[in-house]
Amino acid sequence: MNAKNQIQRQETLRQKLHTRGSQLTSQRAAVYDYLSGVKHHPTAEEVFLAVKPKLPRISLATVYKNLETLVKCGAVSKLAYGDASARYDIRTDHHYHTRCLGCGKIWDLDVQEGSELLSHIRPQAGFEVKDYRLELLGYCRECRR
Ligand code: ZN
Ligand code: MN
Repeated sequence: MNAKNQIQRQETLRQKLHTRGSQLTSQRAAVYDYLSGVKHHPTAEEVFLAVKPKLPRISLATVYKNLETLVKCGAVSKLAYGDASARYDIRTDHHYHTRCLGCGKIWDLDVQEGSELLSHIRPQAGFEVKDYRLELLGYCRECRR
């Protein structure tokens, strides 16, 4: 990512945080930058381990709070799966995922057919559909070894 894009992205983030009365801190910027740069959707703990070298005084609890602030202002989405640790996604648009049953990692799945698939599915009478999710479950390359 070039410097101009990064400045633009930070400005957008600053505005989003502002709408919820929050400030753009160096910690929030670091958390957001890390989420922007990874292919999978990390847990709070993974984010913590990744930003700690840059911000030695940061704690896991603080990372968690910063992630929740980013979720509340609509900059990041949170993926919760029952008792497993929540994962955080830089994308907030409607999209799909693949999820590894071994390591629990989640990746974006880019398919165009999602809404087309839905038009073939009929729920029971009287059920009004508001949203849908498509998720492929399996084992990633590392877990298949
Ligand atoms: Zn895996
Ligand atoms: Mn995603």
